[in-house]
Amino acid sequence: MPIEENHKILFEPVKIGPKTAKNRFYQVPHCNGMGHRWPRTMAEMRGVKAEGGWAVVCTEECQIHPSSDITPAPLMRLWDDTDLPIHELMVSKVQEHGALAGIQLVHNGLSVCNYMSRMVPIGPSAAATETSNSTQARAMDKSDIKEVRRWFREGALRARRAGYDLIYVYAAHGIMTLLYQFLLRRFNHRTDEYGGSLENRVRLLREILQDTKDTVGHDCAVAMRFAVDELLGEGGMQVSEAEDIVGMLAELPDLWDVNVADWSNDSRSSRFSDEGFQEGYIKFVKQTTSKPVVGVGRFTSPDTMVSQIKRGVLDFIGGARPSIADPFIPKKIEEGRSDEIRECIGCNLCTSGDTVAYPMRCTQNPTMGEEWRKGWHPEKIEKAGSDAKVLIVGGGPAGLEAALALSNRSYEVTIADSNSVMGGRVLQETGLKPLNKWKRVSDYRTYMLSTRGNVQSFVESALDASQILELGCSHVAIATGSYWKTDFVGAHHRSPTQAEAPDMICTPEMIFAGDDPGNRIMVYDDDHYYLGSAIAEHLAEAGKQVVLVTPDSEIASWTRNTLENGHIQVRLRELGVEIICNHAVGSVKKNSVTLECVFIGTEKNVEVDSVIPVTARESIDGLYEELNSRTEEWSDHGIKSITRIGDCYAPGPIAMAVYSGHQYARNLEATVDPDAQFKRENDFEIGKH
Ligand code: ADP
Ligand code: SF4
Repeated sequence: MPIEENHKILFEPVKIGPKTAKNRFYQVPHCNGMGHRWPRTMAEMRGVKAEGGWAVVCTEECQIHPSSDITPAPLMRLWDDTDLPIHELMVSKVQEHGALAGIQLVHNGLSVCNYMSRMVPIGPSAAATETSNSTQARAMDKSDIKEVRRWFREGALRARRAGYDLIYVYAAHGIMTLLYQFLLRRFNHRTDEYGGSLENRVRLLREILQDTKDTVGHDCAVAMRFAVDELLGEGGMQVSEAEDIVGMLAELPDLWDVNVADWSNDSRSSRFSDEGFQEGYIKFVKQTTSKPVVGVGRFTSPDTMVSQIKRGVLDFIGGARPSIADPFIPKKIEEGRSDEIRECIGCNLCTSGDTVAYPMRCTQNPTMGEEWRKGWHPEKIEKAGSDAKVLIVGGGPAGLEAALALSNRSYEVTIADSNSVMGGRVLQETGLKPLNKWKRVSDYRTYMLSTRGNVQSFVESALDASQILELGCSHVAIATGSYWKTDFVGAHHRSPTQAEAPDMICTPEMIFAGDDPGNRIMVYDDDHYYLGSAIAEHLAEAGKQVVLVTPDSEIASWTRNTLENGHIQVRLRELGVEIICNHAVGSVKKNSVTLECVFIGTEKNVEVDSVIPVTARESIDGLYEELNSRTEEWSDHGIKSITRIGDCYAPGPIAMAVYSGHQYARNLEATVDPDAQFKRENDFEIGKH
């Protein structure tokens, strides 16, 4: 299909200093949990994005010196020449597809503890480090400032030797970067020429920008990443001061990459922001500089992108999450296939790759992180091993993904779901307003399936074991999902607590179905991810009095890894939700729940109309078990395999269900080397990649 006329502007080349980007798609630096620890995994992932049409593909932040040691996070490093092969590998993967390779050099100053290097952290002034643990940063003296300038120059030279086209000076994301710490009054209490007035606080940033330009600027583009607002009011950076800073440095870098801080504001999940939400903050930048400007905002709609360019907000469409969910966004737009974009849902599961320190995963894109290890490509898949027919029972995320990937392999696929609409748990959960955008998981897949000639979809089709056998498909995947437990078994209680008044229990499914749980409701969250707080928020929005109880020391603690915890804390308080931590459900009687302190067992009674346990789920695997007990009938019906996938196999996050469905489809009738499934990276040495 030809490109849509009004999307052509997105494919204009743009000059960045001495380099030219082939179009306006720019993968901004983003963490991935791979970095220096899983370099081939990282390089292949970046390469796939370049293949997908992104004109610029950057590293995540890259530490320039052991005094900026962010262990245990496996980010990129450029401490000395021994780091070069990892960078050379990434650069070659990116440039192979005609993209520019960018590197985001950083010193983290007082935000790191230097666990591995054991060096004393440094900052503009003496202060507690971000993670504290009693480790404090010392104030930099003039010789330290000289050293930092030298490390940045050496970092830039090494980056150029690795082959990078674009080198960043990074002063953004709040406390995370030394150069931003110098800008902020709350970290910079210096009385010399590097503290006090704005001009003084900007001095080190200006010097390092100038040094970088002088050192590599004749053949590398120099980018400046800057956060224009921390959303802290007068206590932090605000647009009014940022306007002065951008004004002072306007023409010094070759490109401005601008956003809001901290990372949880920049990468706001869809629960707390809409596409393009940063525009109001960053739009002044383009009026202040003649250099190209890149910004982010979870852009997945080409029309929104075009509007950003035409209205003079941005020159480049920056993307981190959109490029993770669909590395081929640019190619799809260029080929007039925008309807095939697999849009990011803004769940932020990917950010947990960095915070937990594992190769990131993506809810929408099951191939993310598996490009090298398993050789999975987001747009290519091995053709079918035979003309076998495949039946998928259940149209949740696992079943839908399996059906789509199998149809891509050219199998004849039948998918049946008992509900009137496909989507399974996605459909249920996205009825809650905070999770609304997640519907893209089922929308994308049901749409794609509707375009296929080799897929038959049936709704309102609850299949039993005999019907499945009768259908006689060679392979059957059982994707019948799971349900929420009502006996309070979860991470805290390992054995059941039966309610004395069972009528008091209201399940999450009842809330999804729109049942009225009464006026005063307890949500008991022993799952610790998003659902407990999302139900609490949903009910509080509907005017209910909500008590959110958790045995943990904070609500929704795992959402720290999706950068949402702070936002959830604020929103629930704004909605008047009562929060009780460190307590587990002891007993449930008519109109009251007794809670027990998890430390000393003291009890307290809370009067409520109902309690919603969000603790753990049980697989719905009865159908699978029955089919398995009838194996002797399989061959009469031509059945070769029956496999459980998704939550039916083991309940987990939506991403795991999608992954499970995809893995099933990839491996069906394929020769899979079990060792290759767990390819390791323990042998990375200079010259051996
Ligand atoms: P997963 O996350 O593993 O995809 P879900 O719970 O989201 O699981 O989806 C399971 C889907 O399977 C639901 O839409 C449910 O209606 C459907 N389902 C369950 N049992 C049957 C059955 N016997 N026949 C057809 N569909 C079924
Ligand atoms: Fe988007 Fe979620 Fe994928 Fe991250 S994990 S890219 S937020 S869909």
